[in-house]
Amino acid sequence: MKIVLLGPPGSGKGTQALRLTKAHGLASLSTGDMLRAAVRAGTPVGREADATMKRGELVPDEVVVAIIGERLTQADCARGFILDGFPRTVAQALALDGMLAKAGQKLTKVIEFKVNEAALVARISGRFNCVKCDAAYHETNNRPKRDGVCDRCGGTTFTRRPDDNAQAIKVRLDAYRKQTAPLLPYYRKKGLLMAVDAMADIDKVTKEIEGALAA
Ligand code: AMP
Repeated sequence: MKIVLLGPPGSGKGTQALRLTKAHGLASLSTGDMLRAAVRAGTPVGREADATMKRGELVPDEVVVAIIGERLTQADCARGFILDGFPRTVAQALALDGMLAKAGQKLTKVIEFKVNEAALVARISGRFNCVKCDAAYHETNNRPKRDGVCDRCGGTTFTRRPDDNAQAIKVRLDAYRKQTAPLLPYYRKKGLLMAVDAMADIDKVTKEIEGALAA
């Protein structure tokens, strides 16, 4: 399976990606996670992307396309993958189609996370991440199973994303509306788009996605 999760910031893509990768043995490819890792490591890409990400704007297409292009060639992607946060522009979607076509592959499904935008700010404000592996949690909706211990890696230090503040959230939602939402008709025309109610609780959203994947 080759799946794209498409939805605004705070719609729960990362949480569902984690569940789906576990359930189906797929590789999880989050450009946001990859860029944050590059920022932490102080690589040239990370140094270039840092300020753009803090403002909530999109980093240039060629940067993320290169990152994903390299990642897709790695062995764990052969069984299939979930893309979380990529593509985010029509140019990125075209580049992805090109890369997959070269390998004789195509996407299986694109899952649209439908949200009530007014509720997103509250959702995003409660988020925190594991410092060690960047796994995402939420103060009320998605706490680690053991308080203070990361479910994924056992890390015990958590942080909030620097772009989870009111100003950057506004810019990120705006970027979604203007630059990413045009992907919905793009994938609808290809017959790949399935929508889920991303405001439902986490287990219900997972069930809806599993239903969409089986359809
Ligand atoms: P995310 O973790 O998906 O919310 O991404 C965090 C930030 O990383 C975004 O606000 C962008 O600045 C950058 N980013 C992640 N993925 C992309 C992408 N596909 N295209 C451009 N910028 C991206």
